Amino acid sequence: MIELRGIRRDYGNFSLTADLQIDAHELLTLFGESGSGKTTILRLIAGFERPDSGQILVGGRAVTGLPPERREIGYVFQDYTLFPHLSVGKNIAYGLRVQKVPAEARVRRVRELLDLTELAGFEDRAVSTLSGGEQQRVALARALAPSPKALLLDEPFSAIDTERRGSLRRHLLNIQRTLQIPTVFVTHSRTEALYLSDRLVIMRDGAIVESGVPRDIYERPKTLYTARFTGSANTFTHEKLKRLPEHWLDGPVPTEGTGDQDAPIAVLRPEKFEFTGPGQSGPDGGCLEGQIRHVGYFGSYCLYIVETELGELDVQEEPGCSIGQTVRLCCPAGSIHLLG
Ligand code: ADP
Ligand code: MG
Repeated sequence: MIELRGIRRDYGNFSLTADLQIDAHELLTLFGESGSGKTTILRLIAGFERPDSGQILVGGRAVTGLPPERREIGYVFQDYTLFPHLSVGKNIAYGLRVQKVPAEARVRRVRELLDLTELAGFEDRAVSTLSGGEQQRVALARALAPSPKALLLDEPFSAIDTERRGSLRRHLLNIQRTLQIPTVFVTHSRTEALYLSDRLVIMRDGAIVESGVPRDIYERPKTLYTARFTGSANTFTHEKLKRLPEHWLDGPVPTEGTGDQDAPIAVLRPEKFEFTGPGQSGPDGGCLEGQIRHVGYFGSYCLYIVETELGELDVQEEPGCSIGQTVRLCCPAGSIHLLG
């Protein structure tokens, strides 16, 4: 387990606060816009950075005052930072040499890591001859070789082609399940965050905004920031909410607040909608009519922009409709989620 207790780090024009626990077998993702403090949290855990106050524990042991090399933590950097003049095998063995692991044990351990990261046969290759994905697997193997008590990954796939990221994600999941060590993964890709995480921690301006399992975060975000950051979201102000079919909301429209009247207070995910033909009634009655303005084709589904009396709405539905077509938008009772 990794614990951050009352952590504060001030950089003058940026300050970070964090209280966080990462369970022993958990893959936790720090997810937030650039500059929100994700890397700073990793650097604090790894010991490249010291907190101004607070405590960090790894596996029950206080590590706050320890240098990085004594924390037993594996770190994978965004840009791999492999040693370009060393072979794959020597890169992986690096941490073991530093720890003065005897040669025989070192060779054995490197072989285990080559197997684990499916790099067997690459041992003597120069790292400069590898693809980005292969290099990132070497970086992972190198981080894991000294059997760390925790694994930290800072946007490890951001320099890899989108098409290749899928197989790297699977690699990471398999390895994390095999090793069962607390893992903190940093990303600003929503696909990665939702797909990989046991738990998702949303960061903004140096603070943790909310955390939970991906489905809860996606379906019941507490803030507009989280709603928009985790996917497309149709948003509604108090005024617009009152004009929507009643049952779309699970309960009464909240009484008007004293805050900003233009601030959205509710979200509706595009996949909640169904197109319903003329004459057909929606799943629960009331529907909204609109006209298709754009068809965004994604293969198994389309993202349509539909103009309605309440403005443009994003609708995810099966392919087949075209621009200019009039459609009726229906959605099941309780599809709208109130923020806060
Ligand atoms: P993220 O990884 O979410 O993009 P970072 O944790 O790297 O964000 O940075 C958060 C903020 O802290 C940024 O505004 C960055 O400029 C600032 N920062 C990070 N490291 C330092 C440092 N050593 N000195 C001053 N400011 C820093
Ligand atoms: Mg960063």
